[in-house]
Amino acid sequence: SSIRQAAIASALRYQSPGALEFIEKTPESVFGENVFSKSVMKKRLPKPIYKSLMQTIDAGEKLDSTVADNVASAMKDWAVEKGATHYTHVFYPLTGGTAEKHDSFMAPNGEGGTIAAFSGKELCQGEPDGSSFPTGGIRQTHEARGYTIWDVTSPAYILENPNGTTLCIPTAFVSWTGEALDKKTPVLRSMRALDEQAHRITKLFGHDAKAFVASTAGPEQEYFLIDKSFFYGRPDLLTSGRTLFGAAAPKGQEFDDHYFGAIPDRVLSFMMDSERELFRLGVPIKTRHNEVAPGQFELAPMFETANVATDHQQLIMMVLKKVAKKYGLECLTHEKPFAGLNGSGKHVNWSLGSSEHGNLLDPGDTPHENAQFLVFCAAVIKAVYKHQGLLRAVVASAGNDHRLGANEAPPAIISIFLGSQLADVFEQIKIGGAKSSIPKGKLEVGVDTLPPLDKDAGDRNRTSPFAFTGNRFEFRAVGSNFSIAGPLVAMNTIVAEALDYCATKLEEAVGDDQSKLHGAVQSLLTEIMNDCGAIIFNGDGYSEDWHVEAEKRGLLNLKSTPDALPQLLEPAVKEMFSKYGVLSERELESRYETYVEQYCMTVRVEANLTKKIARTMIFPAAIRYQRELATTCANLKAVGYDFDTVTLDKVTGLVKNLQDAIDVLAKASEHDCEDMTECVNDVLPAMLKVREYADKLEAIVADDIWPLPTYQEMLFIK
Ligand code: ADP
Ligand code: MG
Repeated sequence: SSIRQAAIASALRYQSPGALEFIEKTPESVFGENVFSKSVMKKRLPKPIYKSLMQTIDAGEKLDSTVADNVASAMKDWAVEKGATHYTHVFYPLTGGTAEKHDSFMAPNGEGGTIAAFSGKELCQGEPDGSSFPTGGIRQTHEARGYTIWDVTSPAYILENPNGTTLCIPTAFVSWTGEALDKKTPVLRSMRALDEQAHRITKLFGHDAKAFVASTAGPEQEYFLIDKSFFYGRPDLLTSGRTLFGAAAPKGQEFDDHYFGAIPDRVLSFMMDSERELFRLGVPIKTRHNEVAPGQFELAPMFETANVATDHQQLIMMVLKKVAKKYGLECLTHEKPFAGLNGSGKHVNWSLGSSEHGNLLDPGDTPHENAQFLVFCAAVIKAVYKHQGLLRAVVASAGNDHRLGANEAPPAIISIFLGSQLADVFEQIKIGGAKSSIPKGKLEVGVDTLPPLDKDAGDRNRTSPFAFTGNRFEFRAVGSNFSIAGPLVAMNTIVAEALDYCATKLEEAVGDDQSKLHGAVQSLLTEIMNDCGAIIFNGDGYSEDWHVEAEKRGLLNLKSTPDALPQLLEPAVKEMFSKYGVLSERELESRYETYVEQYCMTVRVEANLTKKIARTMIFPAAIRYQRELATTCANLKAVGYDFDTVTLDKVTGLVKNLQDAIDVLAKASEHDCEDMTECVNDVLPAMLKVREYADKLEAIVADDIWPLPTYQEMLFIK
């Protein structure tokens, strides 16, 4: 029988791998058990060493080598007790993945044996080479190596394998010249920039607290689950992460019967197991539910500081994929695994604050607190307006192109949703400041109290790419397969720049006279609303009207990756990233080049897969069926019957169309995958044509001959 029939049979044979224990091993008792956390360090390190390390973690003070040696030794003992034989500096290359190179703790003891050893130097710096990672021209392979540098602010942890465990140390990856080759370094730099500018604002409002103002992130992860037998029966899913063929299932998501529905047992078991694994790694998973499309689900952790949230987000994707296999499932994180069904995003909730300042995007209770909140909010408005192109660029990828603007995800136009109350507040400020004659109640900053802002989901606008949700912003255009590093670097830096602008204006206006503050804030907000208010849109982002309206307002509508990525090279973007020390011009260009290359490679691989599957799986199935029909026709004729040839004619026509379409694709993909625009204009449409005829054939060819697991099987057999 075919691979497809074998896959169905295998999916039906699924057996649960056995139960987890939750009464004796409560979630609290396992949380963080594989993390070298502050509490573990407190227990295992001499007091002065611990104190000095906390100074480094919390206040960014330099780490001295005695401290490093002490920490390394304690970390190694802890890891070895947990069965570790090796350690690895984990880093985050521009591919968006997670990279690791393992080293053994073993060192010769001078007497022919070995001892486990781990020095401060080995903890702090590694030399993984890693010369095959994309660097966009920063580093040639013949040049000196890349270095990994311990990120003290992200805790080390243990990863388990049935045969042993590995100590994982989160690190930054830089070239010998100090240039960032990774996604972590810019996150750390952008957090520093944001902290510095945020402090200037809070100082104006009389809070000179020392605590580091960190950006915080809570990423919601959407994903699909399918039985792994189907996954292996689909070369397209296996290699490109999405189905390049497949007719729509007779039933899709139209009944909305999956969204928030009861979670199937097998899936729930998978979720509980993944959550437990993530808990043990100290990742605070909070929510789970069914999503809109059949087979689609979501998981969200509690928010953490941007840097830790980014590392944890990488762990989330890794653990989901690993645990899925244990349950005979495959976890798909591609943005659009199935045509015609909702794609998957990763909503990144973002805010900033500290234990001493609280959440700076929380309105607060007094008019004075409200005023500070409004400045932070206005800075976000100004930042998003000025850098809408950059925000679009950091969510651009071949995968996310299938999702953005597809009436299920936010449109490719970046705008801000404020909710009706806050939008009203800003409207009043605009009018008030302009001394307009409109009698509507104007709001006086620092005197009036804001109305309580709606936090409930009723006021949420799901069609907005950037939405205020009561005490944070939610960036919804991020794709499900993304590292959240890029979006966070962009948000942190553009807001730092806007806060810098606001602080400078306010400092000048206020001088030594604190009583001028609220008036200065009022004029600043009015100015920002007049200059940048066009970015605010509370309506339906899916409607045609919005596209027309957005164009009138002069907002960018960058439909695809080739339109969006060049925004990274805009002078205003380059200037900003260098000014705040987040990315030098060369570092920024290297990112542009890497992402262009990744886009083209993705399209090339998809084109190759489309050709291969069409030629070696679909075409043969079609002609087998054609032969069956032709044979029947000839046999019937021979005994004097008439055979109606409509089906045979149809199949013959489609086979011809399929062959022609494959030829067009072969020509288009021969050269055109070098250039993003040609990918969009020639290669992707040619792939769609091949798919169109293949999907039509799927609807007629005898089911027992059809080679690829169907949408119906993948989405509903579980
Ligand atoms: P919804 O689906 O309604 O948007 P979820 O509960 O799925 O809400 O996700 C909300 C996310 O926002 C969670 O990860 C939560 O921790 C996060 N979040 C809440 N407050 C903040 C904050 N101050 N900064 C960043 N993220 C936050
Ligand atoms: Mg959300």
